Amino acid sequence: MSKNLRFQVVSEAFKKKPIEVPNKEERPSEFFAKYVFTKQKMQQYLPEPVYQKMCEVIDSGATLDFATADAVAAGMKKWAMELGVTHCTHWFQPLTEGTAEKHDAFVEHDGCGGMVEQFSGKQLVQQEPDASSFPSGGIRSTFEARGYSAWDPASPVFVLGDTLMIPTVFISYTGEALDYKAPLKKSLAAVNKAATKVARFFYPDVQSVQTNLGWEQEYFLVDEDLYAARPDLLMTGRTLMGHDSARNQQMDDHYFGAIPQRVAMFMKDLEMQALELGIPCKTRHNEVAPNQFEIAPIFEECNLAVDHNMLLMELMRDIARKHGFRCLLHEKPFAGINGSGKHNNWSLSTNTGILLHNPGKTVTDNLRFVTFIVESLVAVFKHNGLLKASIVSATNAHRLGGHEAPPAIISSFLGKQINELLDNIVENHGDFLNLSGKQSVNVNIPQIPELSVDNSDRNRTSPFAFTGNRFEFRAVGSQANCAAAMIVLNTAMAEALTNFHDRVVKLTDKGVEQQKAIMLVLQEDIKYCRPIRFDGNGYSKEWQTEAAERGLDVQTNVPLILDYYLAPDTVKMFSEMNVLTKAELEARNEIKLDTYTKKIQIEARVFGDLCINHIIPVATRYQTQLIDMVLKTRQIFPEDAAARLCKQNMELIDQIGEHTNSIREMVAELVENRRIANRIEHERSRALAYHDTVAPLLETIRQHVDKLELIVDDELWPLPKYREILFVR
Ligand code: ADP
Ligand code: MG
Repeated sequence: MSKNLRFQVVSEAFKKKPIEVPNKEERPSEFFAKYVFTKQKMQQYLPEPVYQKMCEVIDSGATLDFATADAVAAGMKKWAMELGVTHCTHWFQPLTEGTAEKHDAFVEHDGCGGMVEQFSGKQLVQQEPDASSFPSGGIRSTFEARGYSAWDPASPVFVLGDTLMIPTVFISYTGEALDYKAPLKKSLAAVNKAATKVARFFYPDVQSVQTNLGWEQEYFLVDEDLYAARPDLLMTGRTLMGHDSARNQQMDDHYFGAIPQRVAMFMKDLEMQALELGIPCKTRHNEVAPNQFEIAPIFEECNLAVDHNMLLMELMRDIARKHGFRCLLHEKPFAGINGSGKHNNWSLSTNTGILLHNPGKTVTDNLRFVTFIVESLVAVFKHNGLLKASIVSATNAHRLGGHEAPPAIISSFLGKQINELLDNIVENHGDFLNLSGKQSVNVNIPQIPELSVDNSDRNRTSPFAFTGNRFEFRAVGSQANCAAAMIVLNTAMAEALTNFHDRVVKLTDKGVEQQKAIMLVLQEDIKYCRPIRFDGNGYSKEWQTEAAERGLDVQTNVPLILDYYLAPDTVKMFSEMNVLTKAELEARNEIKLDTYTKKIQIEARVFGDLCINHIIPVATRYQTQLIDMVLKTRQIFPEDAAARLCKQNMELIDQIGEHTNSIREMVAELVENRRIANRIEHERSRALAYHDTVAPLLETIRQHVDKLELIVDDELWPLPKYREILFVR
């Protein structure tokens, strides 16, 4: 019997060899940021006064004038052309999740029938991409299609292939944000303003406070040919069917295991290109699930870190293809094994150090440490629902609440020592001043030196865990733009710090001594945010009940969670902190609902087709073979012998019939429910209809398909199975 296409694809995939990536002659320190217009390159390519002006713009947010912009553009053009660049583009982050670009060549008419290479300050600073096909959530009616992209000098220009890439914000004609970067920058300014005032309570010389982000990016690699043979992966980024592989992650042998050669070459290639683009890659390892991996850079200033993550995701997709892989950034590409997240390590720092770090040496340091920890908790507690809204999506919903990812309840893990400390402060023991930083632990293993351990241990189940000098927000989805979560977290922090500052000042104005005033306000706040502190098992059933009793948001329905974007507390916070207006929030909410609906809509269509065109025909073919066998058995055996011999096959024929019938009926229902939902005008109601009547059917139908996968002859099964997709590398 001829083998089906699946067998050919699988055996070819198994034979693939690693694509060798030669070592570079230079060290990473030498090729780092080779393709980035860094300050060092500015100094080299710009006249001294222009360079000085640019430093001012970058470091203290001064406004860029057109004359300077022209001079900068000239230097940039020279640098870029030396690297063979012919085009430039504004590179922005519309609300579709990815990035967008529109390339223009450097050429202009020279007025004498020829052409010249030209790149002006105007082109650098501002462009007007036709914005009508980007989501705007009703901000910009279609007749006012103009959107502007404007250069963000805080994120350096870089070269990708033959193109000069210019990071920009993207706003409407009337000034509303149509992207992630504009509000992110505003949220960073808000934190800076509020945190600087608070930091000055402790260190009067503080000039500014920077927000840091260190993301850890998880992903899957699957062989490109196997991927191509799975229309569901291709169209939706995840498998909509597929029975568990007998072996998956139960042996715990993939996590931190040796990295397979083909993958190692991909990683090496990726890291070298990322380093050349100024992304400070540092860590790589296998993740928990088979074929799942992680890459993490050293943390950076938040705005830059977000751009670098967006850029890295693009590089990952491209470079994976060069190595015969597809990179899956979907949060849950495979059922039954871990999904992928993007841990956002977040902290604030001044030029002298990290505000969430505690050296434990002086009273001032200790009090500052406690203040920033507590105000982070206040922020997260007050806006726990909104924070969840910032990370939910149709795709991340499959991961949250599964037994590998943070639950769909935001809480914070602090560790024993800090918890006791906060409780002591409320009870006013006052011995908080003796908080120590790292403690030495004698591990008692020969030849192993003393370890210095952080003052918090680890809890993998916590969505917002304190990890020594930062909080780690683990609920962010692997394909999401980190900015969505960072905008909320930063703004909430700015609000909490502003309130904290004002209350302390109110007391000191009344004559209360400052340290005492800080303590009094902290006591209030520690009591207020008590419900967000949870060190137990976030995966447990009991926690869901307890969290609800504590008043934390426990909603799991994505469209309902998205309501938080319009909640009065949200609108008030964003407008007071000057980050997003009510209209902008409404737009964001609408776009998120619409994206939610469309994702499920596409899944439902793809899955319906797969069931009808791939699965049912194959199952029926196998059923026919069985029927044939039964009929022939009856011809050659006496009746009772035939009955005995055919007993099992008769049952199988029956089972296949039941499954295919169910699938057909439910696919019809799926189509009908989609049709009904599509007719609903209002975004929220439509998304809810998709949530209630379409998404659950996908799961139910899948169970029947997965059962058929176990029954039907392996030779006939058309789609690569989990055991093949997940173990080819
Ligand atoms: P983990 O042990 O959580 O897997 P990793 O080393 O994989 O840790 O990643 C931790 C990430 O946190 C890195 O990007 C690291 O640079 C970042 N990080 C470390 N300290 C801070 C900090 N103070 N603020 C923000 N990010 C930080
Ligand atoms: Mg981590």
